[in-house]
Amino acid sequence: MSRPADILLDLVYPTRCVFCHGFIAPPGRPRICPACQAKLPRTEDGRRRKGDFFSECVSALYYEGDVREAIHRYKFGGVQVYAPVFGELVASLIYEQLEGEYDLISWVPLDRGRRRSRGYDQSELIARNAAARLRRELTPTLVKRRGVRPQSRTGEPEKRRANIADAYRVKDPAAVAGKRILLIDDIVTTGATLSECAKTLLLAGAEDVRCATLASTR
Ligand SMILES: [Zn+2]
Repeated sequence: MSRPADILLDLVYPTRCVFCHGFIAPPGRPRICPACQAKLPRTEDGRRRKGDFFSECVSALYYEGDVREAIHRYKFGGVQVYAPVFGELVASLIYEQLEGEYDLISWVPLDRGRRRSRGYDQSELIARNAAARLRRELTPTLVKRRGVRPQSRTGEPEKRRANIADAYRVKDPAAVAGKRILLIDDIVTTGATLSECAKTLLLAGAEDVRCATLASTR
């Protein structure tokens, strides 16, 4: 039997594909249509890259076209029902690329003000769904300080870097000490945010930080 929330969901999003937004059958939760399954801009081998402080970052998709549109609907249009689909993509990526290379799964958090105004933390929801798929716990490790301007409104890489310095603090250093941490975020562009988070975790005693994101710029 459908829960009221599911019925409402079908009225608002009558089973549209997460990516091309086309109608799909049979009705149910938003998912990926066969055409998009075949043509999603998947990265090769997770597009592995290194950062200043994280030892590796892998991404499932390229941030372009329908992927960009879908992530925008998810982040700025309140369409949090995409989280299970995004979480599954990230879980597959982690399983294929980073299996056995981490002790705990965490995410890059929003600050409290943004989380409140958006109603949810988009990376936390992706991470929570991914962790559930991998049958792992999700561990909160970082807190974003308030008063740091949202990254998307600042321009050049240097400015971004300066803007996010000391933007995060570790919730409980004892929980990360000696641990290999897998940090999940929605998109990686310059890698500056992930580097800042990784630096914060390493300074608190983490042994290693690897990152997995839903999407990456080319
Ligand atoms: Zn589609």
